[in-house]
Amino acid sequence: GVMTQAVTRGDGSQGDDVTANVKTIRSIPLKLKEGNYPADFEIRGEIIMTRSGFAKFNEKRKKLGKQEFANPRNAASGSIKMLDAKEVSKRPLDAYLYYVVGDDLEFTNHYQSLETARQWGFKVSDTARKVSSVEQIFDFINHWDKARNELDFEIDGIVIKVNDFSQQKQLGFTAKSPRWAISYKFKAEQVVAELLSIDYQVGRTGAVTPVANLSPVQLAGTTVKRASLHNADVIKSLDLHIGDFVKVEKGGEIIPKIIAVDLSKRKDNAEEVSFLTHCPECNTKLVREEGEAAFYCPNVYQCPPQIKGNIEHFVGRKMMDINMGEATVAALFDKGFVRNIADLFDLKASELVQLDGFKQKSIAKLLESIEQSKNTPFEKVLFALGIRFVGETVAKKLAQHFENIDLLKSATTMELLMVDDIGERIAESLVEYFANPVNIDIVNRLREKGLQFEIQKNTDNFPDLLQAKAFVVSGKFSVSRDDIKQMISNYGGKVISAISSKTDYVLAGDKMGPAKLKKAEKLEIKIISEDEFYKMINI
Ligand SMILES: [Zn+2]
Repeated sequence: GVMTQAVTRGDGSQGDDVTANVKTIRSIPLKLKEGNYPADFEIRGEIIMTRSGFAKFNEKRKKLGKQEFANPRNAASGSIKMLDAKEVSKRPLDAYLYYVVGDDLEFTNHYQSLETARQWGFKVSDTARKVSSVEQIFDFINHWDKARNELDFEIDGIVIKVNDFSQQKQLGFTAKSPRWAISYKFKAEQVVAELLSIDYQVGRTGAVTPVANLSPVQLAGTTVKRASLHNADVIKSLDLHIGDFVKVEKGGEIIPKIIAVDLSKRKDNAEEVSFLTHCPECNTKLVREEGEAAFYCPNVYQCPPQIKGNIEHFVGRKMMDINMGEATVAALFDKGFVRNIADLFDLKASELVQLDGFKQKSIAKLLESIEQSKNTPFEKVLFALGIRFVGETVAKKLAQHFENIDLLKSATTMELLMVDDIGERIAESLVEYFANPVNIDIVNRLREKGLQFEIQKNTDNFPDLLQAKAFVVSGKFSVSRDDIKQMISNYGGKVISAISSKTDYVLAGDKMGPAKLKKAEKLEIKIISEDEFYKMINI
C-alpha cells in the first residue's frame, strides 16, 4: 500500500513523472490504510487548488510583487510542473481521486470502487451519486448547475458513467474515448449589467488596461461590479457605449468579461467609448508599439505606478531581497521619501518613523535589510534595475559576459547581440536604458552606496583548473560533501544535481547510488574518484 510513482496524463500516451511533487500534497496518502487492495494498481484523479486556497495564494504573490495566476486551474497545473518539490509543498494543492485501474480488483462496479478507494485512504468526492433513471441524471445536473457555486473548487461540468463493469466492457471504446462515460458541460452563467464607466489602470510596465464599471449583478455566486476589457481592440470590437446594457460571462478567469452589447437598449445620445490618449497618472501621451495590443505610458521614470512598480521589483526576493512590502513602497513614495530605487539607500530612521506601524524594532530591521542588500551579487543587481526585457536569466548572461557595469553600459547593439540569448529587443532596450541620463545618475548613486556592479572574482586566487566543467557529486567522501562542492566552485567548476548529457564528470565517493552509476555509464560520462579529483586541482 505504498505510493511508488505519480505521473501526469500528458498527451494521453506519455506524461511526466511528478512523484516528488505529488508526495507533497497532503490529501494524497503515501501509505494506504488497512484494506484488501491488490499488489499493484493505479488510481487516477485531478489535482486542484481550492477557491479559498487560491485566493490566499494569489494575495501572497501579489504582496511579493509576483505575477498573479488567472485562475485556480492554471495555478494548480503550473505548480505540479515545478522542478522544486520544496516550492510545490508551499502551494495549497489538493486532489480528488475518481478512477481505480488494475487487474485484480475485487469490485464489480464503479460506485463500489469509489467507496472502497475512500476506505483505503484516498480523498474521493462525496458528491458522486448512483442513479437509476435519466430523470435522476437531469435532477443531478440541475442541482449542481446552481449548487456548484457553493463548492470550494471550480467545476465546469459533470461526468456520467455506466456503473456496472461488465456493461462497461460490453460497450467498449471508440478510437478516442470510452462509450460508457460522457461529460456534461454547464453553460457559462451570463447576466446583463449596465456599463457605468471605464477605468484605466496603469501597471508596473506602463501598460494601460481598461476596466469596465458595471451596475452590480449577481454572477456565479459573487457580486460583480467590474469586468475586464483587456485592451483597446476589445472595446472597439464590442462597439461599447457608456450606458450600454452588456452581457457578462464568467469564464475560467477571476474577473468576468463582457461578451456582447444589447443594441436594442442603447440610448440615442449614448457616448461611444474611446480609448484614452493620455496617461491617467502622469498625462503623458500614450503609445502603442507595432504588433502590441496594449497602449503604454512611455514616461517610465516619472509615472507614479511605474516608479512604484520599479521599486517593488527592485526590493523583490529574487532581486535585492529587501524586506519591504507593496504597502511600504507605496507609503514611502506617497510621502515623497523614495522617488527612485537609489533613494532607498538614503532612507533615515526619522523618515521611517512617520510611516504607519513602524516602530524602533521594525525600523532597525528594515535599515539592516537595506544595508545587507549591498552584498547582492552583480547579476541580481542587474536584474533588480528593472530594465525592460532583462529578466533573471538575461541578467545572468550579461553579467557573466561583460563582468562589470561599465563594459555593459558602453556596449553597442552589435556587441550586445553577440551574447548568447540576447536578441534585438533586449539589446535595444539596454542601449536605450543606458542612454538615459536619469538612469545613469541612479546607477552612479547606487554604486557610490556600495552596491555590487561587477562580478565577484575569487578572492583567494584559485586557478581556473576546472574551466566551468559540470560535476555531479555522489556518495561519501573523506571530507564533507559541502567541502567537495566548495572546492569544485573555487576551481571554476560547477556543481549540478542530476546526471544528464550536460554532465562532464561524476565525482563518485563511497556508496554511490546504483541508479546514478547506471545512468552515468549509459550516458558515457566520466566517473572519477576523490583522489582523481584532487589530482585535477593539483592537491
Ligand atoms: Zn504615466
